[in-house]
Amino acid sequence: MQRFQLYIDGAFCDGEASFDSVDPATGKAWAQMPEAREADVDRAVESAHKALYDGPWSKLTATQRGKLLYKLADLVAANAARLAELETLDTGKIIRETSAQIAYVAEYYRYYAGIADKIEGSYLPIDKPDMEVWLRREPVGVVAMVVPWNSQLFLSAVKLGPALAAGCTLVLKASEDGPAPLLEFARLVHEAGFPPGVVNIITGFGPSCGAALGRHPRIAHVAFTGGPETARHVVRNSAENLASTSLELGGKSPFIVFADADLESAANAQVAGIFAATGQSCVAGSRLIVEASVKDRFLALLKRKAEAVRIGSPLDMATEVGPLATARQRQHIDALVERSSAAGARVVTGGRVPVGEGFYYPPTILDCDGVDSPSLAEEFFGPVLSVVSFETEEEALRLANDTVYGLASGVFTQNLTRAHRLMKGIRAGVVWVNTYRAVSPIAPFGGFGLSGHGREGGLAAALDYTRTKTVWLRTSDDPIPDPFVMR
Ligand code: NAD
Repeated sequence: MQRFQLYIDGAFCDGEASFDSVDPATGKAWAQMPEAREADVDRAVESAHKALYDGPWSKLTATQRGKLLYKLADLVAANAARLAELETLDTGKIIRETSAQIAYVAEYYRYYAGIADKIEGSYLPIDKPDMEVWLRREPVGVVAMVVPWNSQLFLSAVKLGPALAAGCTLVLKASEDGPAPLLEFARLVHEAGFPPGVVNIITGFGPSCGAALGRHPRIAHVAFTGGPETARHVVRNSAENLASTSLELGGKSPFIVFADADLESAANAQVAGIFAATGQSCVAGSRLIVEASVKDRFLALLKRKAEAVRIGSPLDMATEVGPLATARQRQHIDALVERSSAAGARVVTGGRVPVGEGFYYPPTILDCDGVDSPSLAEEFFGPVLSVVSFETEEEALRLANDTVYGLASGVFTQNLTRAHRLMKGIRAGVVWVNTYRAVSPIAPFGGFGLSGHGREGGLAAALDYTRTKTVWLRTSDDPIPDPFVMR
């Protein structure tokens, strides 16, 4: 079995314990992973703290930091195929997507490399004589980063890029479900020449590793991606160290199709929105809200496309839907489909666990019209689409906003004024009009409501990893007058 190591203080090392990682396509263990517990976490955080205040990193110019990020970007691009294969092996995400996504991850590092020396302070036109006052922007401190198993290289790039551009040091915790790609990525960080302690990459379990990291007294900020329930633990733990938090959580994103939309194009976008990555995407367009007059036509189109999807080995370039990442994830999906069927949802296609090895689940469509189905409210994080229809634009908007989440949304219409009304009315961090699942380092991303807070991507994300320091400089050589009066 292949063995992986932790990356702490610029060195590769074993963890306090180890565990097996399972290939979701076969259900069999394929690699041994190091398990970081409290002592490893402490060592990693201390090394990040030392690197932030004492090491060579603290003396680099912002331009030099940017150069290191450019180097890392080049290494990610050059090694994308190898990293993709590891991510596919460890998480079951199809190679077709991991290879394209990881090649694009390099662009995130390039974007933030360019931003490193454009994070500017400001000068304040202060209301006092003989006084110069300005704001410095300094790194927020040591950052804890915690990510889930889907798209780990991507979800960490949107944290590492801006944090390193801002001058922070960090400890990144890879998910215990499929940590291979991030542990391998550590080798690229090392090769790029980041000083020891600037980037530490560990993995381990939620309570013994993630929690120990999040509440560590030296952590200033926790950048978390995962489910809302875990986020509550993260926020509670931050009461210990009073670290700030940014939370990228789940979703139940509406996908609205009006009768005037290009239905073929919308159906392709819906397939991308719910079946790509086997539905294990936080932005999955999991609630189809379709105009009643075209519902049957659109559902027939979707059913045909869903049933034509090529299910197979995630390592095969021709495969379109691979296995789910874990057996636990499949059980959760299956149970939610069952509860929804029991509530009255009608299975249009799929809905059954297939026979055979691996954690496969077929593309599934549930018609939930007139049914109070739990599938409309709860996140599957799998390839299951719930469908409801509407008669009016107001009803479509009401249904779209009928969720505790607010991450992404899609609107399909040829009517420009209607598109504008909806993009304003939808309560979600992203609105895609006549497209879906498009991302870019230039475009901020994040949620409303239980989908979290904070934005990743874009210039502001780098500023979020800074804090300001106000500097007052008196320019008069006269002695300070009356010491009992505030200046
Ligand atoms: P999860 O919340 O179970 O785990 C995420 C990470 O948190 C893992 O690394 C885990 O070890 C860690 N963790 C667990 N308990 C912890 C604790 N007490 N303290 C600190 N860390 C702890 O999520 P998951 O099931 O692995 O991933 C699926 C969820 O992630 C879904 O809800 C999905 O929507 C969400 N997600 C969101 C985005 C986004 O950008 N908004 C992207 C991808 C996934």
